Amino acid sequence: MSAKHKIVIVGGGFAGVYTALALEKIFPPGEDIEITLVNRENFFLFTPMLHEVAAGDLDLTNIVNPIRKLLKWVTFIEGQVEAIDLRGRRVVISHGFDGHPHEIRFDQIVLALGSTTQYFGLPGVEENALTMKSLSDAVKLRNRLIAILEAADTESSIEERRRLLSVVVAGAGFAGVETLASINDFLRKSLRFYPNVMSADLSLTLVHPGDTILTELGAGLGKYAQKKLEQRGIEVLGHSRVGSYDGDVVVLADGREIPAKTLLWTAGTMPHPLVASLPCDKEHGRLKVTAELAVPDWPGVWALGDCAVVPDLTPGNACPPTAQHGLRQGKVAAHNIAAHARGREFQTFNFKMIGQLATIGHRAGVARVFGVNVSGFMAWWMWRTIYLSKLPQLEKKIRVALDWTLDLLFSKDLCQFIDVRQGQKMDNNNLAHLHEKGMRNASRPGEEVASATIL
Ligand SMILES: Cc1cc2nc3c(=O)[nH]c(=O)nc-3n(C[C@H](O)[C@H](O)[C@H](O)COP(=O)(O)OP(=O)(O)OC[C@H]3O[C@@H](n4cnc5c(N)ncnc54)[C@H](O)[C@@H]3O)c2cc1C
Repeated sequence: MSAKHKIVIVGGGFAGVYTALALEKIFPPGEDIEITLVNRENFFLFTPMLHEVAAGDLDLTNIVNPIRKLLKWVTFIEGQVEAIDLRGRRVVISHGFDGHPHEIRFDQIVLALGSTTQYFGLPGVEENALTMKSLSDAVKLRNRLIAILEAADTESSIEERRRLLSVVVAGAGFAGVETLASINDFLRKSLRFYPNVMSADLSLTLVHPGDTILTELGAGLGKYAQKKLEQRGIEVLGHSRVGSYDGDVVVLADGREIPAKTLLWTAGTMPHPLVASLPCDKEHGRLKVTAELAVPDWPGVWALGDCAVVPDLTPGNACPPTAQHGLRQGKVAAHNIAAHARGREFQTFNFKMIGQLATIGHRAGVARVFGVNVSGFMAWWMWRTIYLSKLPQLEKKIRVALDWTLDLLFSKDLCQFIDVRQGQKMDNNNLAHLHEKGMRNASRPGEEVASATIL
């Protein structure tokens, strides 16, 4: 039996991948250490650029990196973590085509599972709304935007056309505002290819409960961003909440109704369900950790990123759930894992946020960097420059830079991503694609597709 010290990292987002990268630097290959990273996708997703995929500015594979290409010698397993047994020091995963179970034993574990979407039990929202957390979410949203334009172009009823072309976004944080601004640009720039759709038919609405949008950047920049969105035809409804959604009409909590074929839900996150199953202290469902990122009472168990409450520099506060925190926590976790294995001193996580930036469409942005507010083109340029430098791998940086250059020269690509081929058996996934295109009754699962939908 191997006497190697076993470290398992669950989750391959900012926190998990940067822990693995830092561990590779600390432990030379060949040392008696075995490190395994488990993630349900085989890639690392660079979320800050996700809205650009939804709006067709970037090709979908350019903002993701295969985890195997990022890591040198850490073992990677594409699999779903099903259970974490802290007492038994083992993780159960399912993987492969049949989802067969597999057990991984560990001496130390890094919990970096991120968060999931919270729907607050609002009727119909989980079933009918789109979300913006994963690569497939961005692809679905892009497909939806093209589908509504195609359907609206042949729709004779004005009322129905306007319902098709009405998009509501719930949540005025970074994900909601950046996505709304970029899909607004996408829809308006695409209109010239849809001669029967007028700009007056488009309706984009931002619903949020606060006074201002992008509250993380302060009231001044929030107001500026709101003004810019409104100038570009977006209606911003503050002090409002979504009450329910049936796929056709968004009903607000105060009873107002907004007919809309699309609701994008970015208004809530909650801790990962696996975290809830752990016998550890939690705060609002997230794992409480010390400043060393250690889970109290569980030596060798570390938690970081969005699934953990990490103490901030200001006593009593916790770090915000951002990528810039997650990746830096990864480096501290790696140091402390090595210190635990070698009996050395732990490091504490004490990072002062450099700043935050958001794009608000039409080559404008808002940024607060080292306490200084920047807005307009300069902030947009800073956003692009900073995030391009943060995107891992030179190859992807070049691809993104090329996409941005081509975007300046050519119009938006309006091809949908559809995976149905002539004579192919329907499964629930590609049936969903047809439904997405409004081709209801096209076929049932298991039936052959009579007329093919081919790109
Ligand atoms: C649209 C969007 C835009 C954002 N923009 C910014 C930004 O501009 N700047 C910024 O700082 N932050 C931004 N964020 C926030 C940032 O993405 C998160 O704070 C960061 O991703 C948290 O890192 P994490 O590693 O904790 O979680 P994640 O990055 O979510 O990683 C968790 C990983 O765990 C995997 N996983 C989950 N469950 C399982 C399971 N059961 N089995 C196996 N694997 C599993 C997931 O697939 C995922 O890869 C944005 C987030 C979104 C959604």
